[in-house]
Amino acid sequence: MKKYDVCNIDNLGRILIPIKLRKEFQLKAGDQLELFVDKDSIILKKYIPSCIFCSSQENVHEIKGRYICEDCIKEISGTSV
Ligand SMILES: [Zn+2]
Repeated sequence: MKKYDVCNIDNLGRILIPIKLRKEFQLKAGDQLELFVDKDSIILKKYIPSCIFCSSQENVHEIKGRYICEDCIKEISGTSV
C-alpha cells in the first residue's frame, strides 16, 4: 500500500478525495464507496453493485433494495409459479 496524500476530516466526519484520485477511479457525486478495515487502516473501494443471483455487474438494476441483472430479471419473468 502506498501513501497518496494527507487529508483533513471536517467536523461532520467528511473527507475530501482529491480530484486527481476521483478522476483516476472515475468517482462522481452520488457514487457509493465500500469501507474496509484492515488492522490500523481504513480502505475505500468503489462500490459496484452485483446481481444477487449470478453476481454479474452488467446491467444491474435496484429493485426493493436488492440488485438484480437484466438476464436474471428475464429468467424470473419467464418463470411460472
Ligand atoms: Zn443475474
